[in-house]
Parts: sequence; structure tokens; C-alpha cells
Amino acid sequence: MIIDSHNHIVGKNSPYYIPQEEYLKMMDDLGVEKTVILGKDYGKLGDRLQSNLPDEEVADFIRTHPDRFVGFTAAHPDRAEKETLERIERAVNDLGLKGIKINPHAGFYPNDTRLYPVYEKATELGIPVMFHTGIKAPVEGTRVKYCQPIYLDDVAVDFPDMIIIIAHAGYPWVEETILVGLYTGNVYADISTLTQIEGVMGFEVMMPTLRKLTSSWGAHRVLFGSDGIFNTEDTIKAVKSADFLSESDKGKILGENARKLLKI
Ligand SMILES: [Zn+2]
Repeated sequence: MIIDSHNHIVGKNSPYYIPQEEYLKMMDDLGVEKTVILGKDYGKLGDRLQSNLPDEEVADFIRTHPDRFVGFTAAHPDRAEKETLERIERAVNDLGLKGIKINPHAGFYPNDTRLYPVYEKATELGIPVMFHTGIKAPVEGTRVKYCQPIYLDDVAVDFPDMIIIIAHAGYPWVEETILVGLYTGNVYADISTLTQIEGVMGFEVMMPTLRKLTSSWGAHRVLFGSDGIFNTEDTIKAVKSADFLSESDKGKILGENARKLLKI
């Protein structure tokens, strides 16, 4: 079973809008059974850029094919605490969303204590929290200093029962990612967008990262994700062709680990 644990949609008015049929076609062609669609909250920056993705839009997208799509809500510390917590409860209990996405490059460190009530809520609801880390999104106003995985050490220590997913393996700070998760069982990493970063950088990114993560942590805490359907094929190919991984490890990375985490 292949599960894409990191993917996005944009609103219908965006020039980057891709209809759902294209996701499904790509998934069918590549044998991807389920895809996680992440919510997005860049706080006031996102309000200004009109780039935030509300829970309802995520829920609308997954509603027609609940067997193929899983949705995540999002949170930003600029928002009022009470409203955020109530919204997360609604997203999980009423809309069926199964995790929270946090985008620190939109102006905060992930160990910002204004987010601690969100982490308490995630622990209580038993849902994973995914953090954008590493290379920042090429979006006006985002800052890469907030994307260093080291700040997640506080979160992992203070919330030992919360599942943390370090998106993009924190690249290029992969060793920081590994250190944050080294002596804990609750820290995972996804390998999404690494093939794309490779294209930007012009040197090898995916294989060295995959090798470091699996040799230090083992394959059971590494998740396949694409970050966009244009990356899906290359990323699956990379995992399948990694000669340092056993077939069982490849199965865990491509889907089994995500299935367990998301309880699907
Ligand atoms: Zn992403």
C-alpha cells in the first residue's frame, strides 16, 4: 500500500488549481492508495496574500472520495487560542480531519509557547502534528530561520505523547532532524519535495537524506510524501531504487508507517 503523507491543494481561484480528477489519475497510475491533503494557515501573512486554506475547503475536497484522501487542519500562533482549539475540535470531530499542519516559516518558531495549547489538544485527540522544516516555501514574507528542526526538540521533550512529523526531513539540516528524534519514539520525518530540491540545488539530496534517516532511526519512522503530484513519481522511484533498503523497509516508508500513524 502506498500512502502519500504530504500533499496540497489550492483554492479554485488560484492559477495553480489542479482538479481532483488529476490527483486520482496520478494516484491510480502510480498505485497510490491514499493521499494526505494538508490545510494551510500562514496567519496574518496568509490573510494578506489570500493563501490560507480553511478546513472546509480541505473537507470539501476529501468528502467525495473519503477512501482515497485524508485531510489535515492547520494552526498559527497569531490566532486567538480559544477559537483555534474549538476549530481544531470541529475539524477532527465534525469534518473528519486527522492531523494538524504547522508552517513556522510564516513567522514563528515551533517551540513558541502560544502553540502549546494546540499541542495539548493534538495529544488529547491522538492526532499527529506535521511541521514544515528545512527549505522555506518560495513565498513572499517567509523566513528560513524558523525552519530549523532543532526548535522541535523542545516540542518533542515537552509533548512526549504527541506524534511529530518533521516535513522535508528538515533538509538541509537532516542531522538536526535525526538528533531531535534520536532517543524518542514520537518523532517521524517525511521525504517530500526532496527530489524537487535536488533539481533546484543541482546536487544529490534525496538518496543521502534517505540513507541518513534510515541508518540512524530505522525505516519505521520515515514517511513517503510528495508535496505535489508533480513529485510523486520521482519520489516513489527513489524509494524503490534505494539499494540500502530491504523490501520490507520500502513498504514501511511508502505506506505502512503512515497507515499506522493515521490509523487508517
Ligand atoms: Zn508541503
